[in-house]
Amino acid sequence: MKEQTTDIYRDRISILNEKGKRKWIYPKKPSGKFYKLRTIVSWFLLLILFGMPWIKTDGHPFVLFNIIERNFIIFGKAFGPQDFYLIVIFAITSIVFLILFTIIYGRIFCGWICPQTIFLEMVFRKIEYLIDGDANRQKQLAKEKLNSKKLFKRVFKYSLFFFISFLIANTFLAYIIGVDELIKIITDNPKNHISGLIAITAFSTAFFLVFTLIREQVCILACPYGRLQGVLLDKNSIVISYDFKRGEPRGHLKRGESERTSGDCVDCFQCVDVCPTGIDIRNGTQLECVNCTACIDACNNIMEKVGFEKNLIKYASYNQINEKKPFRFTARMAGYSAVLILLITTFSILLINRKDINVNILRTPGMFFQEMPGDKIANIYDVKIYNKTFDEKNIQFLSSDESYIVNILSGESNILPMNHKDIKLIITKDKNKINSSSDKLNISILSGGEKIDEVTTTFMAPVNKKEK
Ligand code: SF4
Ligand code: SF4
Repeated sequence: MKEQTTDIYRDRISILNEKGKRKWIYPKKPSGKFYKLRTIVSWFLLLILFGMPWIKTDGHPFVLFNIIERNFIIFGKAFGPQDFYLIVIFAITSIVFLILFTIIYGRIFCGWICPQTIFLEMVFRKIEYLIDGDANRQKQLAKEKLNSKKLFKRVFKYSLFFFISFLIANTFLAYIIGVDELIKIITDNPKNHISGLIAITAFSTAFFLVFTLIREQVCILACPYGRLQGVLLDKNSIVISYDFKRGEPRGHLKRGESERTSGDCVDCFQCVDVCPTGIDIRNGTQLECVNCTACIDACNNIMEKVGFEKNLIKYASYNQINEKKPFRFTARMAGYSAVLILLITTFSILLINRKDINVNILRTPGMFFQEMPGDKIANIYDVKIYNKTFDEKNIQFLSSDESYIVNILSGESNILPMNHKDIKLIITKDKNKINSSSDKLNISILSGGEKIDEVTTTFMAPVNKKEK
């Protein structure tokens, strides 16, 4: 058993040694209630991640994020560049949501939902345990000189890792270009899809390196969310905490001890041994902690063995532990949660009310009115129509005031699915029916005889005698 380390103040992150070199972490395989639960949650999330690109609605992907062609399909609904405001609102909502959520609930996201943690801990690490064995066996294997057994294990493990990375890369690509296009790239003559194949190889290699070599450094050094924890968390945030009131002073269990003089922490280092970021949670909340709950399970197993009460390490805030109070849903938490609900509701309403066909009508810049034969006045308008559906649409224009005659001057009003078109409209009116030099006019937009929108614009005319 290791010696107790008391009051050592760290001047470096957990994955560096005193020389500043990378310290490879060999976490012990966790086991316990939380690990089981996380496994179930991760399989469920992986099923969604890998399954989603294959789901289709009316022959179209259920989700697609084609940033190259700026085509987005979310839950079967097509989004185009003109929905950019929704992306901005979504980004703002997500950032505020993340900040407020973290202030209250800490890094729950990192431990339970983040794809990096799920893939590393629930896929790659599990395979590693199966092939290389638990932490001690892995350390031994790393020290061993290359022999046939080690070579076989390494080749087998890394081949498997690359294959999974390849699957992940294909899945991510499927979200961007769609499964049909992806299947084409994989099955067609490689010569026809050089750029696609380069992308798949590059993505696969990147994932392979992340999960084989870079690992926890992504969370500790690269992830902006992880770096923000220092400013987001406070003493009321619920994080993975060691109950120092109960645990200290820590001390080994002594044989024949009739009455324990130390705290409940038996200084077994099990919580440190299972930690995938190599920290000792007993030193308090640290930036490396991804809230994976492995130390809770490890400590609970020990507590059970020695017959002490469980949850020496648990989800709790610093204040909760320091003041020995049970969890309380405070007014601050209620307030933040209300803001979170409000944000989600606002975004949902905007999403529901989003139009499938967008029409912008503007008087052609630089053109005033025109005198037409037959004592008529005409105005020309530029129209931009965005068809965000998967069906071809035929658009008609109609003025609610029958004295205005609306006609298409140039362009076609047939818009292909997920496409846009620019057309010109000419609106005419009898001179003798004109009352003002600038009139408001409502134009109804119809598709298949059904009114889908109404746009208000102005109609310019010569200065009216009555106005003079
Ligand atoms: S301290 Fe505990 S919860 Fe945090 S990363 Fe380590 S094992 Fe996971
Ligand atoms: S696992 Fe529990 S008892 Fe063991 S060192 Fe960690 S906190 Fe102490």
